[in-house]
Amino acid sequence: MMSQIVEKLENIVGRDWIITDIDQKLGYLYDEVEKTLRPKADENSIVVKPANTEEVSEIISTANDNGINVVVRGGGTGLCGGAIPVKESIVISMERFNKVVEVDLNNMTVTLEAGVTLFDLIEELDKYDGIGFPVHPGDEGAQIGGMAVTNAGGARAVRHGIMRNHIKGLEVVLPNGNILNLGGKLLKDNAGYNLMHLIIGSEGTLAVITKVILKIYPEDKHVATIAAAFETIDNASNAVLEILRSGVSPLAVEYQDKHINLETAEHLGLNWPLETGNADLMIIISEKEEDMLYSSTRKINDICRKNGCTEAVFAGKKQEQADLLAIRSGGYEVIKDIIADSFDMCVPPASMPAFFEDLGRIMKEYNTTTNITAHIADGNVHNDTVLVDGKIPEYAEEIKLKMYEACFKYGGTITGEHGIGKIRVEDLKLQKKEEELEIMKGIKAVFDPNSILNDGTVV
Ligand SMILES: Cc1cc2nc3c(=O)[nH]c(=O)nc-3n(C[C@H](O)[C@H](O)[C@H](O)COP(=O)(O)OP(=O)(O)OC[C@H]3O[C@@H](n4cnc5c(N)ncnc54)[C@H](O)[C@@H]3O)c2cc1C
Repeated sequence: MMSQIVEKLENIVGRDWIITDIDQKLGYLYDEVEKTLRPKADENSIVVKPANTEEVSEIISTANDNGINVVVRGGGTGLCGGAIPVKESIVISMERFNKVVEVDLNNMTVTLEAGVTLFDLIEELDKYDGIGFPVHPGDEGAQIGGMAVTNAGGARAVRHGIMRNHIKGLEVVLPNGNILNLGGKLLKDNAGYNLMHLIIGSEGTLAVITKVILKIYPEDKHVATIAAAFETIDNASNAVLEILRSGVSPLAVEYQDKHINLETAEHLGLNWPLETGNADLMIIISEKEEDMLYSSTRKINDICRKNGCTEAVFAGKKQEQADLLAIRSGGYEVIKDIIADSFDMCVPPASMPAFFEDLGRIMKEYNTTTNITAHIADGNVHNDTVLVDGKIPEYAEEIKLKMYEACFKYGGTITGEHGIGKIRVEDLKLQKKEEELEIMKGIKAVFDPNSILNDGTVV
């Protein structure tokens, strides 16, 4: 079947833009999900690299007519196996959709082809003095289409929200090959059900995103970072809640276990400046005026001291701040080889102290530990089950269920950012009611009656 399809695909994109050789294909078959969790890719899949929306449309129509699964691949930075073709598939790589179509400073929007990476978007906006885009998931290799369809968050969500809050319009190709333009540069639009927002966060199961219109913003000129150490994670999370109530609006409030900060700093050849305590916060503040920056810093400092902060460091220079951020962002790289399972649970911010306590209790029960990093002000925790003697422990499933149970107790979710992908499809059933899942399946069937788009993902 696939050999007949290759000829059809060649007629659409040209021979140079198809990969069938296994060595070349391998780089397109997996994402960043941990090896212990990742499903196996079907290596008979074919990679195709269309140049424009019409070619995507023709590829999808061909797949639909022949009942072949299609997996869209963005930057491959996803953490839940969404871009892995687990059955024989056409993998559409969006890498040639790399043009910035328009920067519209009057409407404060940028229109991008879906394959533009976050790195390229930042570089493009740097040309316009003081203009930026706030959403920043950790890996700048993520593409804007991928970020839209996973509704990415990241460290700055505490002030600026997530992708959904900044997407104004999408061009999409439906599984039947039809092209739709949804939304636009409007501030208000209440005409009918909002299909654009259904596609945002749909993880490549409802449509292929080919173009994105994003809102852009004036950026604050004055930025500083405070690193603060606390004796316990409980003290640190109480300080965060008080900061959020105080009227200061930090750009980011990040948590990382001290041992991860120290190991990452060593790994990167950098210095983590805090020696005391066990729980470290990294708070980024940005303001329009310098005196506002100092006033916010003083307020945050006072709140931290009041909540048992053992030491705090102010970083005002660009390089100092970049080093702290590199240590926070690099934490995952240092621990990833000891991870059996990793989580992305999210609870209401006010429940963080209690949720951390629950996690501690559960770890004690199993005589194990967990590594915690968190977008703490969002209530979003990344923690893990660790390997025992290099193997997935036999209690892995049980301990996961206990952690989920604790998270649900506070009205939490199993994933705040990374999504369901292919690794959490069963887990979703623990969180959602049957009726909700049935509605989701119904929506999938309306968009994609033959289920050719990323089958086996989400629902
Ligand atoms: C070190 C690291 C840190 C991270 N930190 C964060 C974080 O803080 N917050 C956060 O939210 N995420 C984070 N992520 C996860 C990841 O960066 C996001 O999920 C990202 O948004 C995925 O974009 P991508 O282009 O890499 O998509 P891919 O991984 O290629 O694909 C992800 C899913 O989207 C689909 N898809 C991709 N492009 C399209 C398209 N154009 N049309 C339709 N479907 C498409 C794929 O089929 C797949 O299901 C992190 C990842 C890493 C490796």
